[in-house]
Amino acid sequence: MTLSIVFNCYNLHQIKMIQLGRDDSMTFVVGDNCIKCKHTDCVEVCPVDCFYEGPNFLVIHPDECIDCALCEPECPIDAIFAEDEIPPGQENFIELNQELAEIWPNISEQKEPLEDADKWNGVPEKIKFLER
Ligand code: SF4
Ligand code: SF4
Repeated sequence: MTLSIVFNCYNLHQIKMIQLGRDDSMTFVVGDNCIKCKHTDCVEVCPVDCFYEGPNFLVIHPDECIDCALCEPECPIDAIFAEDEIPPGQENFIELNQELAEIWPNISEQKEPLEDADKWNGVPEKIKFLER
């Protein structure tokens, strides 16, 4: 059943990529605003469980992401971007997602956001608070 859902998502993804003319090797990326918020709504919808969790930030494994775009609208604080739509100044998060996804544990179930998540939403350049 789960496999069938994954295959269906992958097929939909392929159709979408053809329609949009996008590079099939694209991935989605978690950006700066997730730091110190970590709502985790995103992990519930990922059909391939490619989110990885650190102390105060989540990342997406670029080699596992099938670019289905399901997670992007689920993030309540707009912290997820397609790789080619990452905001200026956050380009380093593409490499950061790859690096940390290799060492952090997988997360596939939603949990409570971090304390003070609302307070930190929208604070710029939270990269300095990233805990590894
Ligand atoms: S939903 Fe958004 S803020 Fe929450 S963990 Fe996912 S990317 Fe981070
Ligand atoms: S786009 Fe988001 S939901 Fe889809 S596979 Fe990638 S990380 Fe998972």
